[in-house]
Amino acid sequence: TVYSAATDRYAKATFRRTGDSGLDLPSFSFGLWQKFGADYAYETQREIILHAFDLGITHFDNADRYGPPHRAAQINFGRVLAEDLGRYRDEIVLSTKAGNPIGESPYLKGGSRKALLGSLDHSLRDLGTDYVDIFYHHRPDASTPLEETASALVSAVEQGKALYVGVSNYQPDRAHEIAQLLRTAGVPLLIHQPRYSIYDRSIERNGLLQLAQDDGFGLIVYSPLAQGLLTGKYLEAIPDDARAVNSSFLSSANITDEYRQRTAELNKLAESRGQSLAQLALQWVLRQPTVSSALIGASSTWQLDHNVAAIDFPDLTDDELAIIDEHGVH
Ligand code: NDP
Repeated sequence: TVYSAATDRYAKATFRRTGDSGLDLPSFSFGLWQKFGADYAYETQREIILHAFDLGITHFDNADRYGPPHRAAQINFGRVLAEDLGRYRDEIVLSTKAGNPIGESPYLKGGSRKALLGSLDHSLRDLGTDYVDIFYHHRPDASTPLEETASALVSAVEQGKALYVGVSNYQPDRAHEIAQLLRTAGVPLLIHQPRYSIYDRSIERNGLLQLAQDDGFGLIVYSPLAQGLLTGKYLEAIPDDARAVNSSFLSSANITDEYRQRTAELNKLAESRGQSLAQLALQWVLRQPTVSSALIGASSTWQLDHNVAAIDFPDLTDDELAIIDEHGVH
């Protein structure tokens, strides 16, 4: 059947401005890191992606690396774009990233012009689109001059292959440095993509949150549910279909007694507010005005519906924030 987007998709969706730019991002963005590879049913992937768009999730985050195998998630997304979403391309913010290793070749990793621009061309072919909205350097590469990495990002924009540029996983000093280089070149850094959740508050400590404000770039924070750890799902046992069963990035070793204790306390707090821990955790990252979007994953449409409902609850009070301070990981 031909897909037609839900006509009420903008009725409830909320948008937030990205740094000092003109670009709004949805409060929730959707990432294809896990369970969008060749090992997972295409029909399920398609259903989740289209459901996200129906919920007003207009931003889809991808990378050359996402699979398995690497590049598979973009090929799958490209198929959805070709068969279903293409007519809405103007309403969609697509991102991709390069520089995180996707092979043994020196040109398939790092921050060189060769690696970044080669990967971008390949990603555009896989996605079946002429441009991405945001092109990221996926992770810092100390062995490449930052000037070269910045110039590759600038070239992507000048060649019309990207509208904006971003960096991910950069420490504040390097983020500041590349923001200056990019500003000088007339292609301001739109956004930084760090990890941030109740279980990883390092961007509060290392100064990135403040730097984003000062340098005028936005923050889109990944793994706001700590890959699912900030839900109630692991409190009793590990569900058969959960990420901790078969991901190399999350395993049963993460489900420690300390984890269970912290999570049980946070879960109690969420219950006292009449919401789930997932909803509380998402509200918590969005309480920061410099956070432009919470970048979530989902393995079902149910999870998406449940998670976007987080914005329906009252703001966290100071007392509630203090309880989160006590049980989070700083
Ligand atoms: P989350 O912390 O939101 O974790 C999402 C996962 O948690 C889901 O896939 C699902 O896994 C589980 N989950 C979600 N909602 C619920 C719920 N309501 N109840 C129970 N379980 C739930 O984010 P991700 O770690 O997936 O990261 C999101 C995106 O961020 C990625 O897709 C990617 O785009 C980006 N990212 C970027 C990185 C970078 O280096 N720049 C690194 C990591 C991520 P399941 O059902 O399988 O258990």
